[in-house]
Amino acid sequence: MDIKKEITEFIADKSLIEDINFEVSNIVIYTKNRNFFLDNTEIIRNLVSKEKKRVEVRLDPSLLLNEKEAEEKIRKMDFGEAHITDFWFDEPRSIVTIEAERPEILSGDRKAGINKIKEETGWSVILARSPLIKSDIVTAIREMLYDNSKFRRKMLNEIGESIYNSKFEVDDKYWVRISALGAFRHVGRSAVLVQTPISSVLLDAGVDVSNPKEPVPRVDAPEFDISKLAAVVITHSHLDHCGFLPALYKYGYKGPVYSTAPTRDVMTLLHLDYINLASRTNSKLLFDVDDVKNMLKHSITLPFHEVTDITPDIRITLHNAGHILGSAMIHLNIGNGFYNVLYTGDFKYDNSKTLNRAETQFERVETLIMESTYGGDSDTQPSRTETEQFFLDIISKTIANNGKVLVPVLGVGRAQELMLLIEEWQRYGLLPEATVIVDGMLWDVTAIYTVYPEFMNSETRNRIIAHNNPFLSPIFKHTVSEEERQQVLAGGPAIILATSGMLNGGPAVSYFANLCEDPKNAVVLVSYQGVGTLGRTIQNGGREVDIELNGKLRHFSVSALVYSIEGFSGHSDRKQLERFVNDIRPRPRKIIIGHGEEGKILELSSYIRKRFRVETHAPHVLDALRLK
Ligand SMILES: [Zn+2]
Repeated sequence: MDIKKEITEFIADKSLIEDINFEVSNIVIYTKNRNFFLDNTEIIRNLVSKEKKRVEVRLDPSLLLNEKEAEEKIRKMDFGEAHITDFWFDEPRSIVTIEAERPEILSGDRKAGINKIKEETGWSVILARSPLIKSDIVTAIREMLYDNSKFRRKMLNEIGESIYNSKFEVDDKYWVRISALGAFRHVGRSAVLVQTPISSVLLDAGVDVSNPKEPVPRVDAPEFDISKLAAVVITHSHLDHCGFLPALYKYGYKGPVYSTAPTRDVMTLLHLDYINLASRTNSKLLFDVDDVKNMLKHSITLPFHEVTDITPDIRITLHNAGHILGSAMIHLNIGNGFYNVLYTGDFKYDNSKTLNRAETQFERVETLIMESTYGGDSDTQPSRTETEQFFLDIISKTIANNGKVLVPVLGVGRAQELMLLIEEWQRYGLLPEATVIVDGMLWDVTAIYTVYPEFMNSETRNRIIAHNNPFLSPIFKHTVSEEERQQVLAGGPAIILATSGMLNGGPAVSYFANLCEDPKNAVVLVSYQGVGTLGRTIQNGGREVDIELNGKLRHFSVSALVYSIEGFSGHSDRKQLERFVNDIRPRPRKIIIGHGEEGKILELSSYIRKRFRVETHAPHVLDALRLK
């Protein structure tokens, strides 16, 4: 069926329609009739109920007030405390993105602010929250996105055309299969290929930084054909799930990449950070800045729970995974309800300071593909309360001793969790005065956290919306330069959050070198420590270590106290994995387990099979499995 033709026939008055465009599976009608642009509720409501698609009317770009005048006019309007900070005009699509400190003021009172802007300027409005922490990199990402307006209008329309104009039939010959391209019976380089007779979609495209021999997914598998790949969907911004993505564009992928907005922003930041680090250490680069830009050009963001067709026969919905900001589980409705798959990515089935636990209620799920990082029989993490108390004791003791606490962290996730925890302790007077150092790019990631409160739990979200933003507490101090780091080291007690989490690079290493020989100091490891990393060595009791600093190998005798804390993990422990499988509705018929060490995967898989009487699978990388 030709939807554009149907719409033209449905809206009898042809003069109302200037152009009809797709934006993926949404439909946009451009009109030159201002009255129709401003008042179309009735017609559009009927059209939506007929087509079962989202339909929007925008004013034809030729009738828009020019950008400069529009900006002046909007700035003169009185929106009280909204504090508009920036404008991003996307002329080909007649959309202006307005960044405001309190965007809810513009959308409140039945969108009075937005409607006023539409009426007086002709622009359709998208609202965004201003980053309350200034970050050049966040601004640069915004600029890259709006640099490509024309290209994006064309791309979104072409995706729509391909979705609506291809025919498929779910008959006896129809099938669904997956291929394990990475992160099966190990952790790292996550990638799952989902295929049907007419579609090929990749879920995650990660790298394995701890395995230089096999760092990338098995894109050499015969069924993987980059020219036939219709879409990539990314669960979250950790590099083991998205670090290969820019390389896909380098090797000729031309399709879209879907994720949540925070995932898009944070992953871009981490990609650029990776290039920065790798070029400093002369490592071979998997991709360069142009590939990252190309990826951004093709990025499409989705909120949770919005059903979106991404190919003629695959429809996805993203659900909260509770792992890090914007982390999503991907639900795939394949062949118009023929088969349903849920791919968890990394998930936490427990509430944290910033996020709600992963979701468990779905309309249909026949196959569940789940992670198993802590799926071993003995992988029980201590409770959150115990963990917090332990951490508080370490910090209090060290500070009382006039020492410093170094916490090596990944760029996104634990760092922000710990910031909120420390802020809370200080607010309630549970922790003595001490500066909290948030080093380097951690601050940029935190800036992104302040932009997306809608992805957080209600407590943190409400504090950010009410401008009682915990991340802006004066206890946090941002350090960037080596000079600032030296000042911190020369100063009094401090809690230092710095990357990387495994002490295998980043500023945490130079902090460690400066602090590790003084018994007054403490090092607290809070994330998974990869084999062969400095973090793993000291975690296992190694106290004589060699560290490369500025190209020179130096020896250190560690006398600072070293602690490992597991309870802050963003992954579900064994009990939480079991509870998740128990609580998920409807119960899947097939459970495929990946993203874990082989032994852990086998333990979890055999337990689930017995306890829940479902079919379980633990594929090897390069295995393919027919789901139906
Ligand atoms: Zn992760």
